[in-house]
Amino acid sequence: MSLVGVTRIAEGEKNEDGAKNGDRQLCPLASGVRGFAKIVAPGTEKSVPIFRGVVNSRISAMGLQAIMSAMGPVAELHLHLEGSVEVETFLELDPALTREEIARATAYIDFEGFIQSYIWVNKKLQSPGHYALAARRLFERLAAEGVVYAEVTISAGVILWKQQDFLPIYEAVQREACLSKIRVRWILDATRQFGVHAAKPVFDLAAELVNQGVVAIGLGGFEGGGPARWYADLFKEARDRGLRLVCHAGETTDAGSVWEALEIGAERIGHGIRAIDDPLLVAHLKEKNIPLEICITSNVRTGAVGSMKDHPVRRLYDAGVPIILNTDDPALFGCTLTSEYEVARREFGFTEEEIEGLVRNSFSFAFDGGR
Ligand SMILES: [Zn+2]
Repeated sequence: MSLVGVTRIAEGEKNEDGAKNGDRQLCPLASGVRGFAKIVAPGTEKSVPIFRGVVNSRISAMGLQAIMSAMGPVAELHLHLEGSVEVETFLELDPALTREEIARATAYIDFEGFIQSYIWVNKKLQSPGHYALAARRLFERLAAEGVVYAEVTISAGVILWKQQDFLPIYEAVQREACLSKIRVRWILDATRQFGVHAAKPVFDLAAELVNQGVVAIGLGGFEGGGPARWYADLFKEARDRGLRLVCHAGETTDAGSVWEALEIGAERIGHGIRAIDDPLLVAHLKEKNIPLEICITSNVRTGAVGSMKDHPVRRLYDAGVPIILNTDDPALFGCTLTSEYEVARREFGFTEEEIEGLVRNSFSFAFDGGR
C-alpha cells in the first residue's frame, strides 16, 4: 500500500481557509487527489509563555475563561482523536442519536468501563468522513484554546480491528490537519492486548506514513493484557524505520510496566504515574530526561488514582521527573488542556514559573519541534 503523487506546494502557500501551515507541514493535495505535499512556511516561530505577566493570585480571581485568554501558545502531546469527540459532534455524525443515548454510552466508573465507552465511540466512526469531522472539530477547539502544535494519536489498531481501510481514513484526517490553523503530527496506536500479530500491520502503516505526517508509534489499550516486552522487536524495527516511540505505561499497573516500556525504547511514557512507587525509576527518568505525559483528570476519572489528592504529579515534579500536561481523551473526561493547567495550579500548587516550565516542556519534548 502506498500513497502516491507527492507534489511540492510553494513556500508560504496558504490553505483553502487562509490558514498558513507551520514549517515542514505535510499536507494532502486538493480534495479527491491521492497524495501529499510538503509545505515549508517561513517565520513561524513563537515564544510567548503561558500566563505571561499574570500573577497567580490574579489568575485565581480571573477564572478559567480569562486564563484561556491569558494562556500563550502551548502544545498537546497526549491526545486521542477518538476520545475527543464531543456530544455535538456525535449529533452531527449521527442525527438519529439522542443526547441521552450518548450520555449513557459514555458513562463509566472505572478503567474497564472507560474502555467500553471508548469502543462505543470508535464504532460510531464508520467512514473516513466521520473521522475527518471528528478531526476538524478537535482542531477547531484546540486552536480556540491556544494550542499551536498537537501530536494526535489515532487508534489504527482499533480501525483495523473494525475491518476498516486505514489509508483513506488517514488521508481524510491528514487533509483536515492541513486545513487547520495548528500544526498536527500523528501517532499511530496499536492495541496491546490484541497481540503482536495484530500490531504488526499498524507498525507497517506507521512506517509507510513516516514522511507524511506520522511521527511516532505507540501502544494503548489494557496495559495488563499486553506487556510492552511483547513488542520489543516491533519497536526496534520501528525506530530503524524512522519512527519515534511512545508507550502507555504505569497507568493502571505498576512501575515495572514503565521499566518495560523504557527497555523497548519508549522515549516518552504515557501517564507513568506509578513511577512514583519506585525511587530508582524516578531517578532514572530524571537522569535520562525522559518525560511522563501526565493526564491528571484522566487518571482521576478512570480510577487510576483514588482521588485528586492521591495524584503523584506534584511529587514526580518535585523529584525532578520531566512532566508534560495533557488531556488524553478530553471529551470522555470532560477536560481541556487549559483546565488541566488550571488543575495543576489550583490542586497541586504549581506556580506561574513552574507552569511556564511545563508549557516549555510541551514543546521541547515534541517529536517535530513543536513550533
Ligand atoms: Zn492515552
